[in-house]
Parts: sequence; structure tokens; C-alpha cells
Amino acid sequence: MSGRFDFDAVVVGAGAVGLACAFALACRGLSVGVLEAAGAIGGGVSSRNSQVIHAGFYYPTGTRKAELCVSGRRLLYAFLDAHHIAYDRCGKLVVATRAAEVPALEALALQGEANGVEEMDLISGRDAIDLEPHLSAVAALWSHETGVFDSHGYMEALLGEIEDRGGALALNTPFDGAEPLVGGGFRVRAGGQEPTTITTARLVTAGGLSAQAVAGRIEGYPPERIPKAYFGKGSYFALQGRAPFSRLIYPVPVPGALGVHYTRDLGGRARFGPDLEFVEAPDYHVDPARAASMYAEVRRFWPGLRDGALAPDGAGVRPKLHGPGEPQPDFRLDGPELHGLEGLVALFGIESPGLTASLAIGEAVVEGLL
Ligand SMILES: Cc1cc2nc3c(=O)[nH]c(=O)nc-3n(C[C@H](O)[C@H](O)[C@H](O)COP(=O)(O)OP(=O)(O)OC[C@H]3O[C@@H](n4cnc5c(N)ncnc54)[C@H](O)[C@@H]3O)c2cc1C
Repeated sequence: MSGRFDFDAVVVGAGAVGLACAFALACRGLSVGVLEAAGAIGGGVSSRNSQVIHAGFYYPTGTRKAELCVSGRRLLYAFLDAHHIAYDRCGKLVVATRAAEVPALEALALQGEANGVEEMDLISGRDAIDLEPHLSAVAALWSHETGVFDSHGYMEALLGEIEDRGGALALNTPFDGAEPLVGGGFRVRAGGQEPTTITTARLVTAGGLSAQAVAGRIEGYPPERIPKAYFGKGSYFALQGRAPFSRLIYPVPVPGALGVHYTRDLGGRARFGPDLEFVEAPDYHVDPARAASMYAEVRRFWPGLRDGALAPDGAGVRPKLHGPGEPQPDFRLDGPELHGLEGLVALFGIESPGLTASLAIGEAVVEGLL
């Protein structure tokens, strides 16, 4: 109990971002409750992604994505070290496979520099092939700070930190709605087997693909301030056989996504993807027919990919705020200046690099609330 409220802060959603927000609030000595509709933490967008720690050069300078990716990456590596969670700062090559792509690569390098990204080198195709002999490239941007990590171990560690500080997680407990209280704070309706109401001084919504539905259940939230939700499905294909590269390999980015890339997990299992397909509602079925375009994309940088080597391997769905062909908006951390409700931060559009940025998003949310 905390003063006249049950909690100092309630967070809706126990994905990487909701947990990071709860962690940041708990670190300030606040009592925190986390409501999660599912039966486990991190089962949403946070468990269907590339598990890449992004360096931060993709995002336009001055955006929240750029700022929170760079600061979030630094916080994340430190957190993983402190909690002995596995990661591999393996580095990544963004490759130009045609001379026409080189200016885009140079622009990425300049943007990275402006964003404060450390350890990037523009290298020749020859040097890239010396590093990764199976590659086809005319030039590459080598990011040493990029890595892969155990995102589930990370979320478990966040939960441990929250609970050590007295925070509480309620699983199978959907947020059903909230109403602002006279004099500040919120009364929150929590559903599930034993529906209940709780009061809180502050509310943070981190509902991932349901962010808009969650905000729509808060009394007094202006509907016109809730951005339209779009779903950007990304299918993955696993490589049957040995991983051909030791670093991650990405093409020059495409509008709305980073382009079909090569990642490997900590166990060395190689995957290609995710592609981008706008869908009406989240679904995770991978259509084997999408392999045809995947082969074509991958062979641009790895001509040695054999026919029949790719097998469907799951999909993720990006919580997007734009449709096909539209510019990609920034992360939205909407505070009272946008929706008029004191004590509330509503997150929208936390697609990539949300995992990398999660700890910095938590810090930014706390700054907006305290
Ligand atoms: C294909 C793909 C690849 C990606 N690759 C990367 C990458 O390599 N690196 C990177 O940094 N980022 C990547 N991302 C982005 C990253 O995965 C997300 O930004 C991040 O996981 C979002 O976390 P979240 O906590 O906001 O959402 P989620 O993990 O979806 O969590 C939201 C939670 O809210 C819960 N919830 C929903 N409604 C309610 C309700 N009413 N009541 C209670 N709980 C509710 C859900 O059950 C869920 O657990 C990728 C995303 C995709 C889709």
C-alpha cells in the first residue's frame, strides 16, 4: 500500500517494454503493480523478433528512436553484464551489393555518427569478403556494437529486479479499464478469474499490439488522440545447415523495415527475415510461398544459398503506426500534454528497436511521470 493508493504505479503489459518501465519505477522506490493478460511474461511481440541489440544508426537524428536506441543499448549491455545474461557482441555488416547502394550506406554511417553510435567503419567490398568469405558485397558498413542476446533471460531478470523491490506481477489479469479519480490517480479494473479494482497514482500502458485497445478503455482518453493501429507481419525462414557468417548481415534498409537479414541466435542457429507484409490482424502462420522472394533477397548478398535450404520458422508482428508506403513515425510516449490525463503515459508504435531501447524507454517514461 502506498498513501491513499494501492500502488504508486501500475503498468499494463509484461513485455520487455512494460517490464523495463516497471523496473525503472521500482528503482525510484515506487510500489509497482504489473498487469499481464497472458499466462506468462514476454509472450507478445517480445518473443517474436530477431533478438538483435541494434547500434542505433538507422533512425533519423533527433528522434526518440535514435536517442533511446543508443542510450538503451548502452544500458542493456551493462544490465546483461550485471545479471550474467548471455549475449554476443558479434557485430554486423550492412552490405551494398550494387554501386547504386553505396550512397545509402554512406548516409547511414553519417547518421550513425550524428546519433552518437560508436565503433562503425565503412569498408570496401574486398575487406567485407575478407571478413565473411561467402558474402557478395561492393562495400559495407561494419558496426562493432551490434549483438544478439537472450531476450527471455533479460525479461526474467527484469521481473526478478521488480519483485526484489517489492513490485507485484499479476498474470492472467487483463486490464479492463481505468477511470481518473478526483484529485489525481486512477481506479483500474483488472479482469480474469477474480476481477478486482485497484487504485494507483500513476498508470503506464505498454500493450504492444493492443496498445490502442488498452488506451481506448481509459475513461476520458480523447479517441482522436489514439493513433490508428497497423500490423506489419514479418516471416522468418530458418537455414538448414551450417551458418555461413559469423557476423549479422543486413542489406541496405527498405522503406518500413530493415530488409531481409541474416541473424543467428546464441546457439549459432541461422535465420533469414523478417520480411514485411501489412495484415488486417496479427497472425503467425508463415506461408511457405513467401520463400521465393526470400531466396531472391538473400542471394543478393549470399549467392551460395542452395535451393531447398530455407524452412518456415515463425513470424512476428510489428505494432506499426503507418501503412504501406507511408513514412515510418517515431515511438510515441504520450503524456498529459497529448491526452490531458495527469499521471498517465501511453506507449504506441513500439516496434524495432523497442527491445534494444527498452531500458531507456523505461527511463523516459519515469521522467515523464515524476
Ligand atoms: C519481426 C520483429 C522483429 C524485431 N526485431 C527486433 C530486434 O532485433 N531488436 C529490437 O530491438 N527490437 C526488435 N523488434 C521490436 C521489439 O520486439 C518490440 O519493440 C518489443 O518487443 C515490444 O515490447 P512491448 O513490451 O512493447 O510489447 P509486447 O512484448 O507485445 O508486450 C505487450 C504485453 O501487453 C500484454 N497485453 C495486451 N493487452 C493487455 C491488456 N488489456 N491487459 C494486460 N496485458 C495486456 C500482452 O499480452 C503482452 O504481453 C522486432 C519486432 C518484430 C515484430
